[in-house]
Amino acid sequence: MATELTGRVVVPGDPDYPEARTNLNLYRSKFPGAIVFCQEENDVLNALRFTREKEIPFRVRSGRHSYQNFSILNKGIVIDLSEMNKISVNVLRKTAVIAGGADLGHVYNTLWEHGLAIPGGTEYSVGAAGLTLGGGIGYLSRIFGLTCDNLIGVRIVVPKGDRSAQIVEATRWKNRELFWACCGGGGGNFGIVTQFKFRAHPIGDVSIFRIEWDFEQLERAYDKWQQWAPFTDEKLTSSIELHAKEQNLILAQGQYVGIKDELKKLIKPLVKSTNPRKVQIASVPFNKAFDYFNYPAGNIPSYFKRSGSFVYQPIPERGIKIMKYFLENTPNEDAAIWQQALTGAVQKVRPTESAFYHRKALIAQEYNTTWKKEGEASENVQWVKALRKYLSPYTDGDYVNWPDLSIDDWPTAYYGENFERLRKVKTKVDPTNVFRFQQSIPPYKK
Ligand SMILES: Cc1cc2nc3c(=O)[nH]c(=O)nc-3n(C[C@H](O)[C@H](O)[C@H](O)COP(=O)(O)OP(=O)(O)OC[C@H]3O[C@@H](n4cnc5c(N)ncnc54)[C@H](O)[C@@H]3O)c2cc1C
Repeated sequence: MATELTGRVVVPGDPDYPEARTNLNLYRSKFPGAIVFCQEENDVLNALRFTREKEIPFRVRSGRHSYQNFSILNKGIVIDLSEMNKISVNVLRKTAVIAGGADLGHVYNTLWEHGLAIPGGTEYSVGAAGLTLGGGIGYLSRIFGLTCDNLIGVRIVVPKGDRSAQIVEATRWKNRELFWACCGGGGGNFGIVTQFKFRAHPIGDVSIFRIEWDFEQLERAYDKWQQWAPFTDEKLTSSIELHAKEQNLILAQGQYVGIKDELKKLIKPLVKSTNPRKVQIASVPFNKAFDYFNYPAGNIPSYFKRSGSFVYQPIPERGIKIMKYFLENTPNEDAAIWQQALTGAVQKVRPTESAFYHRKALIAQEYNTTWKKEGEASENVQWVKALRKYLSPYTDGDYVNWPDLSIDDWPTAYYGENFERLRKVKTKVDPTNVFRFQQSIPPYKK
């Protein structure tokens, strides 16, 4: 018997369609033929079976944050999990079972009610699914590792035979290679994760800081930050934002899992060797900290182009001058370079131990532009492309969760030497390439 779509199905012409089809990035937005909002695992199974039986192209979506809109498509079907967002916490075992469609705000808030946390990203609306499957970088990374480093197991809907689908579990002991691939191999490649199980960490009060400099101090402030942030106490994770010259803002901030007096001592070398216009430190409950790092604007759909790279060695003076030049010549005042220090717990896992390859990098770096109208795309896209190119002598690769279609050698950029192993997993789990998009991992040909 032919499979029917189950769940809440939205099609063009429905009042809900405009909202249902819109992802966070409005640049190159798309018009799917249907969006199926799955309510339970069976809806996901049915959706995959339906698309296979009818040979309809499809994409998988949770938080809608894909930079390149890999989670939507024209004409085909979007299998959306955002209405499957239940979370259950086992306080004694310090574990959390998170449905495939939960967003980060829901994850942080629910775990916080039990005095627990998993290391995630910043914006509340980011999907736990996309974030975890690509790695997951945030303000707890240096103490607790990437989000995927805290993963215990997944339930995942994968292709079966010619036209069907099945649910499998993957952990460190069961379907081990698939589990390895789910820890940094990137969303949408192998199957549809309906459930994640995580190890969670007890958390209470944390200390946060904010340091601001004028734009003219960029070179010194940035250099001191990059010499300090990846090497300081691993309970402290810090970022730096280098904004367009018009904004006159260089901003370092961070979160320390410890008391304020200790944080004050830790940031002293950075403060003393530069001339900040503002320094703020506060001790707050963890929920206030994740609220502080969540920028409301980051949750609202807009036109944007983003790309990124990793920094393995401190950027020399010449590279910093290039960053400054680009920030003096931006397409608009919203362009920025954003960096976050890695090392610590991130580096304790070997590059091949999980699919997230860039373990030895000191810093993850992002190039961001946002604009207001469709017609402004080209100069923004060009700015990001040129910045990436000019910084390439001092940087390496890119984070798969910051995908960029203009990177030709994306397999090496995202996965380094893990790419061939990912292809082997793909060939085993999805030999006919059912899950595919512009930069998906291809199976080996038979
Ligand atoms: C404003 C903003 C802030 C961000 N902040 C951070 C941050 O702090 N740290 C960080 O590491 N990254 C961050 N990111 C990047 C983010 O991790 C990626 O964009 C991630 O892929 C988003 O996942 P999603 O579920 O929200 O997106 P979606 O667009 O829904 O999906 C992204 C990818 O995952 C696939 N996918 C989605 N759900 C599933 C599922 N259930 N099973 C299998 N595949 C699935 C999709 O097919 C797609 O390929 C940010 C992005 C934005 C736009």
